Amino acid sequence: MAKIKKTIKTIKVDADRCNGCRGCEIICSAYHAEPKYSSINPAKSRIQVITHRLKDIWLPVFAGEYTPAECMGRDKYIIDGKEYDECTFCRATCPSRDLFKDPDSGLPLKCDMCEGEDEPMCVKWCLNDVLTYEEREIEVDEEEEASLEDMEIGLESLADKFGLDKVQDAVARLSQQKKS
Ligand code: SF4
Ligand code: SF4
Repeated sequence: MAKIKKTIKTIKVDADRCNGCRGCEIICSAYHAEPKYSSINPAKSRIQVITHRLKDIWLPVFAGEYTPAECMGRDKYIIDGKEYDECTFCRATCPSRDLFKDPDSGLPLKCDMCEGEDEPMCVKWCLNDVLTYEEREIEVDEEEEASLEDMEIGLESLADKFGLDKVQDAVARLSQQKKS
């Protein structure tokens, strides 16, 4: 099977350097406002700083994939003596919490790495060097990559036609049917 190069984009988080200034949330929400930079609302940011002042926890987390169902179990982490609440490190937009949902529409938010920029905006704006952008290339099967792209284009056109809400409802229903 033919191989092609694919670029993997990563943001490394050095959480110990974060002071909770929320500059990353501000610039992310402004950058993704319609029109661009027309408003600021950290609740619409695709990076959220999970904060627990008493435990000295400031943890930037990026919005990941939408999931129609919450986990069956939860994880607790203790790192350097600090206990992190359940779901702290999870990037999913899931029914069990309001994180990474647009407060106006309720639609899921997902980090897009500021597609089109040379460097993600939150990385540029973090003055404490918490966030570091990295790129690397990997080889993938051309056919598998093409079918994934086809699926994304198909989903996007369905969302354009019927609205994202209806497509998500349909996926959630299908997922329940498959499980039962
Ligand atoms: S801009 Fe940097 S220091 Fe400020 S909250 Fe975000 S990650 Fe933390
Ligand atoms: S990379 Fe861009 S979209 Fe992702 S959290 Fe940072 S500013 Fe937001």
